[in-house]
Amino acid sequence: MSNALWDSLVRRIRAQGPITVADYMSEALSHPEHGYYQKQDPFGHAGDFITAPEISQMFGELIGLWCADTWQAQGSPQACALVELGPGRGTLMSDVLRAARTLPEFGQALEVHLVETSPVLRRLQQENLAAQTQPTWHEGLEYLPRRPAFFLANEFFDALPVHQYQRSETGWHERLVGLEDDGQSLAFGLSGPLPDSLCQDFPDCSPGEVVEVCPAARSYADIMARHVCRYGGAALWIDYGHDRTAAGDSLQAVKQHNYHPVLTDPGEADLTAHVDFGALKRTAESAGARPHGPIGQGPFLKSLGIETRASLLGEAATPDQRAVLAAALQRLTAPEQMGTLFRVMGVTHPHAPTPAGFPVTEADSTEGRATG
Ligand code: SAH
Repeated sequence: MSNALWDSLVRRIRAQGPITVADYMSEALSHPEHGYYQKQDPFGHAGDFITAPEISQMFGELIGLWCADTWQAQGSPQACALVELGPGRGTLMSDVLRAARTLPEFGQALEVHLVETSPVLRRLQQENLAAQTQPTWHEGLEYLPRRPAFFLANEFFDALPVHQYQRSETGWHERLVGLEDDGQSLAFGLSGPLPDSLCQDFPDCSPGEVVEVCPAARSYADIMARHVCRYGGAALWIDYGHDRTAAGDSLQAVKQHNYHPVLTDPGEADLTAHVDFGALKRTAESAGARPHGPIGQGPFLKSLGIETRASLLGEAATPDQRAVLAAALQRLTAPEQMGTLFRVMGVTHPHAPTPAGFPVTEADSTEGRATG
């Protein structure tokens, strides 16, 4: 189907040849005029998909308490940054701040920074957070204050552009987006042969297999890991993904809660790829930081006390509200819903205590540190 972004992509491909899948994803999501996130508010029941903070306030509240607890365990540093990447409508930040301020000294120590490229979503974030904070917005992570930082990213990494490579009998090729022979629709194709070093994380692939590499995710992960090593704080990354780097084509489009063909209607459907937590973990380790997890969202939230929080909220609720709470609890934590597929990974300085929600490791007991 044709739209303004489709026309511009077709013109570009006719003039310059096929583009990479990463370029396609980046144009479809972030084109300054016609990109998916530049045009609309895609969240919630009426939108294209629903995220954990939009399902229930409990999600953000527990993460706010997690930040406060981690802050205390690191000696309650006086001034620190709370940085969210891809804050959507600002719902998570709003719930996090409300909970974090139950510890007033933590609330006072915090300065809020948001990393967001979409002007539409920046406006929405400003409106929704106006009563609680005046955040500073950033395009990326280049200009952060030199102080401890708590980085939150929920369903952020899955929106970053991935390169796809396909193995052939003779070596690796990059998957490209070009035009069908009739020139009327977009189609996948392959580049010429590429050096093996590009796909060194996938040594055992068979011909025909597709792998994904997300340099943008690695670069964000690297900056956050270096920051917590140098200044303190922690990062918390939550996303749909896999713990070990493995082959597979996970690029998918979703429109109005249904799967949609990836190359149809660019800019009109959400495009995501599964997050390779194996790669993020290696990146954090090479930056000198300590990764925690990844573990399932269900066990993580349960260990932070989501069931107790749900029954507390239930005490003051009507029967209808109680049913909504029970459904939200189920959706966020049940293994067949978001509890297992969504992974949670933390990152801290190697000598910082294990943050709440993650399994305690030998390092904690041998060094006699308190854990959350
Ligand atoms: N965290 C929110 C929204 C997830 S959607 C929630 O859980 O509800 C992805 C978010 O990342 C959107 O806010 C989108 O505009 C933002 N985003 C996508 N690509 C980005 C990029 N390259 N840099 C900064 N923000 C980006």
